Amino acid sequence: MPFVYDFDHKHRKPPMEMKDLLGGKGANLAEMTSVLALPVPPGFTISTDACRAYMDGGWPDGLSAEIAKARTRLEKTMGKRIGDPSDPLLVSVRSGAKFSMPGMMDTVLNLGLNDQSVEGLAKQTDDERFAYDSYRRFVAMYGRIVLGIPGEEFDLLLDAAKELAGTTSDAAVPTELLRYLVDAYQQIVERHTGKPFPQDPDDQLRGAVEAVFESWNGPRAIAYRDRERIAHDLGTAVNVQAMVFGNRDDDSGTGVGFTRDPATGTRGEYGDFLVNAQGEDVVAGIRNTEPLSALKDHFPKIHKELLAIFARLEGHYRDMCDTEFTIEQGKLWMLQTRVGKRTGAAALRMAVDMVAEKGIKLSKEEAIERITGDHLDQVLHPQFAGSGYKVLTKGLGASPGAAVGRVYLTADGAQAAAEAGETVVLVRSETSPEDVHGMLAAEGILTARGGLVSHAAVVARGWGKPAVVGAEGLRIVGNTFTVGDTVVEEGDWISIDGTNGTVVLGQVPVSQGETPAEFDTVLAWADVIRAGHLGVRANADNGPDAANARHLGAEGIGLCRTEHMFLGEDRLPIVRRMILADTPSEEQAALEQLRLAQKADFEEILEAMDALPVTIRLLDPPLHEFLPSTEELAIKEATDGLNPEETRLFQAAKDWHEFNPMLGTRGVRLGVLKPGLYAMQVRALMEAALARVAKGGHPIVEIMIPLTIGREEMALARSWVEEAVTSTLAGSTGSGSGSSGRGKKSPAPAAGSLEVLIGTMIETPRAALRAAEIAEDAEFFSFGTNDLTQMTFGFSRDDVEGRMMSAYLELGLLKRNPFEVVDPDGVGELVRLGVERGRSTRPDLKIGVCGEHGGDPESIQTFAKAGLDYVSCSPFRVPIARLAAAQAVLAGHTAARTADRKSASAGVAAKGRTKAKGKG
Ligand code: ADP
Ligand code: MG
Ligand code: MG
Repeated sequence: MPFVYDFDHKHRKPPMEMKDLLGGKGANLAEMTSVLALPVPPGFTISTDACRAYMDGGWPDGLSAEIAKARTRLEKTMGKRIGDPSDPLLVSVRSGAKFSMPGMMDTVLNLGLNDQSVEGLAKQTDDERFAYDSYRRFVAMYGRIVLGIPGEEFDLLLDAAKELAGTTSDAAVPTELLRYLVDAYQQIVERHTGKPFPQDPDDQLRGAVEAVFESWNGPRAIAYRDRERIAHDLGTAVNVQAMVFGNRDDDSGTGVGFTRDPATGTRGEYGDFLVNAQGEDVVAGIRNTEPLSALKDHFPKIHKELLAIFARLEGHYRDMCDTEFTIEQGKLWMLQTRVGKRTGAAALRMAVDMVAEKGIKLSKEEAIERITGDHLDQVLHPQFAGSGYKVLTKGLGASPGAAVGRVYLTADGAQAAAEAGETVVLVRSETSPEDVHGMLAAEGILTARGGLVSHAAVVARGWGKPAVVGAEGLRIVGNTFTVGDTVVEEGDWISIDGTNGTVVLGQVPVSQGETPAEFDTVLAWADVIRAGHLGVRANADNGPDAANARHLGAEGIGLCRTEHMFLGEDRLPIVRRMILADTPSEEQAALEQLRLAQKADFEEILEAMDALPVTIRLLDPPLHEFLPSTEELAIKEATDGLNPEETRLFQAAKDWHEFNPMLGTRGVRLGVLKPGLYAMQVRALMEAALARVAKGGHPIVEIMIPLTIGREEMALARSWVEEAVTSTLAGSTGSGSGSSGRGKKSPAPAAGSLEVLIGTMIETPRAALRAAEIAEDAEFFSFGTNDLTQMTFGFSRDDVEGRMMSAYLELGLLKRNPFEVVDPDGVGELVRLGVERGRSTRPDLKIGVCGEHGGDPESIQTFAKAGLDYVSCSPFRVPIARLAAAQAVLAGHTAARTADRKSASAGVAAKGRTKAKGKG
C-alpha cells in the first residue's frame, strides 16, 4: 500500500468513504477534486497508514521517496517548484484525522518560502509587500506550530510594528517593517531552538509532516479523543496543498460558508468572509467579518458560482456542508468541505426539511440516524426564565441554551474552579485550541471577539454548550473585564443566553425551553420505527413526574420507587414508628397509616398512567435509611442529652446498623424480616387500582420484588403478594372497598379492567444466573443495572466513582465508566444470560431495564441486542431513549416481537398471571 495519494488519485471507491485512510479533510478534498471536479488547489495526502507506521517505528521507510515523487508531480502540475528562488511554489501543510479534532496540529501556510524565494515571489507577483507579509506569516506559524515557540513572542513584535506604523491593521504594515519582522522572527526561532530557521524546503516539509504526526499524541488531542470516545490508534493524515492567496489584493479574499444555517437549520447559505485576507483570519476573529450575503456586492460572479457549488455539495453529500473557500485575484478556490456540525435545533429542522426536499429525498430512517441524543438534549436546554433582568451587553448567540456561572478569564482558571466544584463561565477575548480544557470545564463560553464561525462558536456548538461570541462591548483587563463603566471580577456571577446573545450580570433563573415542532415530528417517526420492537418507559415516583413522563412519550412506568413515598415529612415519623414498634399491634397500626398514605400516592400515579403499565417496586433500601444518623445522635447524647423518643431511635439505629448496607438487609430480605410490610404496600396499591377502576380508569399494575436471588425467595415473596392481591380484591367485591374494608358498597370492577402481573428485579449476578427458576414465579423481569453493575464489578459506586474511576479510565483499565454506559461484556453477558434463561422457562416473559443505563443511547443498543422489551429511564431522558430505541431497530439490533408481550397472556408456563376479575 502506498503512503501518499494525490487528490486526483483514482481510488476504487468514492474517496469521501475513505476517511479511515485519507482522513476527513483529505477524503473530501479528493472527492471535490476527482468526483465533483470543483476548483481545488492541487495537492496530495499522506495517509493515516504513514502516521501509524511512524507511531510504531519512527519515520517509515520509503515515505521520503514517496513524498518526493508526489511533490515532483505537484510541481509539474503547477509549473513551479517549491523553493525555486525565482518563482517558488508555496504549499500548506494541513492535518486531518478521520474525525475533525481540536488538538491536532494547526495548518502551516506558505511553506517553501526562504530568504531567496521570498525575493522571487516578490518579483513574480510584482508585490514585495505581499511576499514579505507571506514570509512573516510563515516564519511565525512554523515557529509556533512546528517548533512550539509561544505565539505571543511573534504577536508582540507585530503589535509593536503596527504601533510604529501608526496603524491597527495588519494589512497596513509597510514592507520595510515586514522585512524587519521576518528578520526578528528568525532570531526568535534561533534563540529558542539554537538553530537557524530552516531554509531548505525539504527540511521545512519534513519538519511540518513530522509535527503533524507528533500532534496526534499531544495531550490536547488525547484529552479530546478521551472525551469524544475516539480510538487512540487511528492516526492522522497530512495534506500538502498548493497555496492560493486571498491576501493578494482587494480582488481577493477568504471565507467560510455553510450550505444552510448551522444554528437554526434555515435554508440558504450562511457564513462570513473577509476581503484581502488569508486562512485563519476569518475564524480567528481578528478582523470583523462580513456576512456571506455581502459577497454578492463585492464579487457577484463568484457569489453565483459559490451558490451553485453549494447546491452541488448538498445534492452530493445529501446533507448540510460547511466549506472553506478563497478568492485569488477574482478566481474562486474550494479549500475544504465536510458535512457540517449543527445545533440540535438545526439538526431537527434539516432532517425534517430534507425528507420533504426533492433534491435530497432523505428517508425518515436516514433522518432518524442523523439525530443524536445530544441534539435532543440541546433543544431541551434551559432558557432564561421571565424577562425582568438587565442586559449587561449583547453578542452573537453562537450556541443555544442558557448558562449561569462564575466568571473565569483563563482556561486554566476555569478548569481549576470547575474541579473545585464551581460552575463556571469562561470569558475570553477569543478562544483557540489552547483553551479547549477550560471550555470543556465551563457551563458556557463568552468571547469579546469573533463571529459565528469563530473557534469558540464552532467548538461550543459541537458540544451543545451555550456560547455568546463577539460581545464587542466587553474588554478584558487583567483579572477583570469591563463593559462601559461596569467592572466584572473573576468569581462574579454572570448569565449568558446562547440563543440570542444576551449577557446578564448575576444569576438569572432559567427554565426549560419550548421544543421546536420538528422535535415531535422526528420522535413520532422514531416511535413508528420502534413500535413492536422496543418500548420506552419512565422511572417516576409520583403523579406529576408520571404525567410529565407521559407527556414526553413514556409508555408506562418501569420503576416506581415506593421508598420515596416513605421519606416525606409526614411519612417519616410513621415509618419510624413501625420500625420502633414493640408489639405486633403497634407495628400493625403504623402499617395501616402508611397504607392510607401510599394508597393516595398510587392512585395519582395510576391515574397519570391510565391504561399504561405501571411497575411498582416494593420497598428496597435498608431500613436504617429511614433512621437518623447514629453519629448525630451520639453527639447529641454527649452534649444536650436525648429525649426518650430519641433514645429509642438511637437504639434502633444502632440495632439496624450494618457494615455494608447496600449488601445487607434490603430489598426482599427486608420483606422476610418484616412480613407485614410488603402485604401492606400491595394492599395500598390494589385499593388504589380498584379506586381507579371505580372511576372508570384502566389501571395496569406490575408488582416488582427487588433484589431476589433465587427460586425459594421469589416463591415466598410471590405468595405474600398474591395473598394480598386476592384478599384486597375479595374485600372489594364482598362488602365493598375502602380503607376499613367495611365501607359502603362500591361497584365491582368490570371484568378485565384490572390487570396485575407479579415479577422481579434482576440485580444480583445470582438472579441472572438462576433466571430460569426465578421465572417460574415471575411474569416479568426488570434488570436493575445499577446494582447489577456494582455487584458484577464489586464496585461500590459512591466510593469508586469519586476515588478511582478517573485513574482507571486514564490507564485504560476500563474503557468507560460502567455506571454511565452499561458494560457490554460482563454486565451485558449477565443480561443476555438472564433473558435467555428466563425465557426458556416462560417464553412470553416480559423483560425491561430500569437502571439509569436505560436512558443512555449506547446502553440501549446493548439492551436491544439482548432482546429486552423496553427500557425505562428518568422522564427527561425519555425522548432520547425513544430516538435511541429507533436507532437500535434501524441498526438491526432488535428482532420483531411475534406478539406484543403485554398481551401475550397467561397460562403459557408455570403460574400464569394473576388476573383480577370482579365477580359482580
Ligand atoms: P482547520 O482544520 O483548522 O480548518 P485548515 O487546514 O483547513 O485547518 O486550514 C486553516 C486555514 O488555512 C483555512 O482557512 C484554510 O482555508 C486555509 N488554507 C489551508 N490550505 C490552504 C491553501 N493551500 N491555500 C490557501 N489557504 C489555505
Ligand atoms: Mg485549525
Ligand atoms: Mg479548515
